[in-house]
Amino acid sequence: MALTACGSDDGGDSGTDGGDSGSSETTGKIGVILPDTESSVRWESADRPELERAFKEAGVEYEIQNAEGDAEKMTTIADGMIADGVTVLAIVNLDSESGAAIQEKAASQGVKTLDYDRLTLGGSAEAYISFDNNKVGALQGQGLADCLGDKDANIVYLNGSPTDNNATLFSAGAHEVLDAISTYKVVGEQAVPDWDNEQAVTIFEQLYTQADGDVDGVLAANDGLGGAAISVLEKNGEAGKVPVTGQDATVEGLQNVLAGTQCMTIYKSAKLEAGALAEAAIALVNGDSPATTGVTNDGERDVPSVLLDPVSITKDNVKDVIDDGGQTAADVCTDDF
Ligand code: BGC
Repeated sequence: MALTACGSDDGGDSGTDGGDSGSSETTGKIGVILPDTESSVRWESADRPELERAFKEAGVEYEIQNAEGDAEKMTTIADGMIADGVTVLAIVNLDSESGAAIQEKAASQGVKTLDYDRLTLGGSAEAYISFDNNKVGALQGQGLADCLGDKDANIVYLNGSPTDNNATLFSAGAHEVLDAISTYKVVGEQAVPDWDNEQAVTIFEQLYTQADGDVDGVLAANDGLGGAAISVLEKNGEAGKVPVTGQDATVEGLQNVLAGTQCMTIYKSAKLEAGALAEAAIALVNGDSPATTGVTNDGERDVPSVLLDPVSITKDNVKDVIDDGGQTAADVCTDDF
């Protein structure tokens, strides 16, 4: 099976019809490695199906696997995919060091790489496909400010994984907005290793206790971390009184927004991001350069990038996510809503 993938000229696979009229020779194969199943439901519930759809539509051979939060496993999967004839490899890195090593090894075997969603610092990807992550943080900050108003407010930050460059950008973007409001004070801030929701509960509990429960707003970096904060606030009779932010427009996040325990979330269309990745990967498979819209500096070089536009979601526009196909009404609108 794998043999036909590596270089015979049977162009375009059985996949779907209507795909490859212009670029006749899609003989390569695309591999995608997702990071885990715990840090956000998005990877398996949104990214995977949208990537599959985009690759099938283009009639290109592909393989998608999940590293289950284990950087060694990601390395093993990458080796396996390359042995299997993958010519373009996209990763959502678990940390820049292991990501850069995977990319270097791939390059040494003539395999082109792409950064999907997370930038690999010091990596060698041909392009970085993501959202404007600084803007994600700024929208979270603005969302929290809109929920708080301009009163005196003590704010706690629950940041994403310290090994995820996006988490740095989210926090920076939020700080840019919130630090400019003179009545706000940061009374606690901590990164949550691996975006682990259980650890987030413990970390938030500690921050909350350290602040003597005098917390008026929580800048949580995604819906999972937001849910962790909300569970602690609930125990303290404060859920719904203390605004909490989020990200990913997950079913849980949207339901919390509708219930009023979460102030906002961020919608990043998986259809757009997966579609942009598929386009870039297919360009590389065909020997072309991916079309990009700018560059992102990774500390060492300017990486050609596609940075999509995130959307802020509050109670008022949850419907936009559903209308766009980001979630279904059946999933979000259960009996309680
Ligand atoms: C992604 C977020 C996600 C988080 C945890 C980040 O890199 O941009 O959408 O919630 O990782 O998986």
